[in-house]
Formats: sequence, structure tokens, C-alpha cells
Amino acid sequence: MLTVEDALDRILSRVKALGSEHVDLVRSQGRVLAEPIVSRRNIPPWPNSSMDGYALRAADATVSGARLRVSMVIAAGVMPKTALAPGEAARIFTGAPLPPGADSVIPQEHVAADGDLITLASPVKPGDFVRPAGEDVRPGDELAEPGRMIGPPEIGMLAALGYTAVRVYRRPRVAILSTGDELADLGSEPGPGQIPNTNSYTLMAQVRETGGEPMNLGVARDRREDIEERLRWGQSADVLLTSAGVSVGDYDFVKEAFASLGATIHLWKVSMRPGKPVTFGSLGPQAVFGLPGNPVSAMVTFELFVRPALRKLAGHRQLTRPIIRAEALAPIPNQGAPRGYLRVTLTPVNGGYGARLTGDQGSSIIKSMMLADGLAVVPPNTIIELGAPVDVMVLR
Ligand code: AMP
Ligand code: MG
Repeated sequence: MLTVEDALDRILSRVKALGSEHVDLVRSQGRVLAEPIVSRRNIPPWPNSSMDGYALRAADATVSGARLRVSMVIAAGVMPKTALAPGEAARIFTGAPLPPGADSVIPQEHVAADGDLITLASPVKPGDFVRPAGEDVRPGDELAEPGRMIGPPEIGMLAALGYTAVRVYRRPRVAILSTGDELADLGSEPGPGQIPNTNSYTLMAQVRETGGEPMNLGVARDRREDIEERLRWGQSADVLLTSAGVSVGDYDFVKEAFASLGATIHLWKVSMRPGKPVTFGSLGPQAVFGLPGNPVSAMVTFELFVRPALRKLAGHRQLTRPIIRAEALAPIPNQGAPRGYLRVTLTPVNGGYGARLTGDQGSSIIKSMMLADGLAVVPPNTIIELGAPVDVMVLR
């Protein structure tokens, strides 16, 4: 059976970033840059004052007690037209451009003013309280590469550079199908023998959290034709995502449905718990995933396989979650099982983090995911003893 790493390699080698589109800057938050950001401006554009005070020539202010004549007033938003002559100072306010000839600013708190004469309480050095032109960014500076996610600071930088719109990768569209005769969908009361459909909703939310656009294909009965027909409704999607019906039971038709639609299957089973039956294939340009049916197995296999694939489609460079080394605050058992992805809480201890199981680890215990800060990655047939180190994939 495939390892998680081999399975992920097979998946990632078959997906590549989608095309790009132009979006308004104000709508670009959370999107992934598809163009490099290279500065075409100086920011700030000219030397300006970082304080309310007086602009002067430092050569005129080498000692405290120096006296200067105020020859002009410069407010923010006004470009001074005349140069500062030796022996003169300019009243200046924060953000206002320095006049030609001035090389420094003294804050008003360090000055005694008497009419248009000022006396300095301290000497001044060239550059004091001046923000030089291009201090932040200069023309030609490479500020961001494609693959970087746009957050508030990126939006601020792009606004400063004058971008009203920016080129970003298209969001992956993901069509989601639940399968199972036992499923009652949201809005209908489960009848005898039925259980509520949860996977459609967790998977749509996981897709959204990953920056994709989910499409709900509803619930298919355990019949190949029904599964196939609904999957065809997802033709416009970049990814088809199903849950359940992918094991070896008599009513498991997902793989057959993929095959009869013409998909090539690249993997079927992965050595892990929860999970194991995970199918990945290609259907023309579409990537198709058949995830297991148990709610926790579906969420965990999404995290391990679908999320990195969606991130790659979405243009990200960093595809996987961070893994930290934590200390087991209680034993974490994984005997008689393949590689475990066990739900743990993370709490700060001794300058690091401590990991503790969330409780029952059954693959249908949705609560275990609600409580989890991360997934402890435990080698096959191993117990992590109290106090021992354990790798944890951080979910939040
Ligand atoms: P299967 O892979 O079809 O054998 O399903 C495995 C388990 O997951 C069964 O207990 C199913 O009832 C359950 N299951 C399948 N689909 C869903 C779903 N959409 N929501 C909640 N549980 C499900
Ligand atoms: Mg089933």
C-alpha cells in the first residue's frame, strides 16, 4: 500500500496552477498573486518630515542654543517652491515634503519660538526626523513573487504602488458529491435507518477555507448510474470530490462510476488511519478524488491530499500545513495500526507545545475534529509515551 508521501507526490505531479484573472484590488484579499509585484515608484516619493517641527540645515544647528529665522510654513500636501537659505528654518508638519536645502527636522518640543525666531534646545544631525525618498520602496524593487497570498499588508503595498486591480490565479471550482442510500440531506428529518449527510457540508467548508469555490452535487444513491449522472453535473468544475462508496463493500460504486466516465485512476489505497480508501484520478483536465465516507476520514484525507492539490491549483507555492514538534501530555497510542493522524489539542508548555488526544478517535467522531488543534502524526504500530516528542500537523 502507498505511503502518504508517495500518494501526495502522485497527486501533486498531476495538478498544476490554473489560469489567472484580473480582480479589483479591494476584492483581492485571500487571492494568490499571479504576477510579480515590481515597484515603479519611490515610497515615500520625496524626503518628508516624520514630526511636527522645523526643517533646517544641520550645519546651522551644531550646538544647542542656535537661533534661526522661520522663513516658510509647509503643511502636508504642499510641495515647497523655494529653497531654504542658510540660517533659515521652515515650520513643517508630519508628512510634509522637506524644502530644497533642508536636510533635517527638529521636533517642535525641542524649540522655543518667539515670533519668527526659534531657539533650538538641542543640536541637530543631518537626517534627523527625515524619511528619505524611497526609504520603504524604490523603483525596480521586487516586492512579491507569484504564489504569494494577498493579505492586508500586500493590499496596502499595492495601493501605494497605484494598482487598482491585480492579476491573481483563478480559484479552483470543486464539485462535491455525497454517496450513500442511508443519507438524509439537510432539511429532511432522517427516517428509519438513515443518518444525516454531514460530509457535503464539511467538504464545502474545507474547500472554501482553502480558497476554492464549492459546488454541491447533492447526494447520490448507491447506484453507479446515479453517481455518474451527478458527477456529469460537475463537468465545469476543476475538481470532482466524492465521499463514501469507495471501499470494497457490495454497495461501493464510486470507482466504477469514475471508470465508466473515462477517468484514469492513479491511486486507491493509502497506508494511514483514518482514511485508507482514498481514490485519486484524472478525468480529462479534471482531478477526481474519492474520499472515504466516515466524516473524520473524509476531513482528514481532505487535509492531507485534497487541500495541497487545491493550493497547487490555486497557485500557492507552500502547499502543506506546518508540522511542529510537541510533547505528549499523555500517552498517544497507535498500536496495530498504520500511520496514524490522531486528533490532538495543543497547549503551550515549557516554551513549546504539549499535545493531548481529544478523546475517542473513532473515524465517525466529528467532535474529535471540532476539538482538534492539530493531527499528531504517529508511526505505524507505535505508542508515543508520556513526555515523548510527537510531530503535529497544525490545523489551527
Ligand atoms: P462507506 O464508505 O460508504 O462504507 O461509508 C462509511 C461510513 O461513512 C458509513 O458509516 C456511512 O454511513 C458514513 N457516511 C457516508 N457518507 C456520509 C456522509 N455524507 N455524511 C455522514 N456520514 C457518511
Ligand atoms: Mg456507503
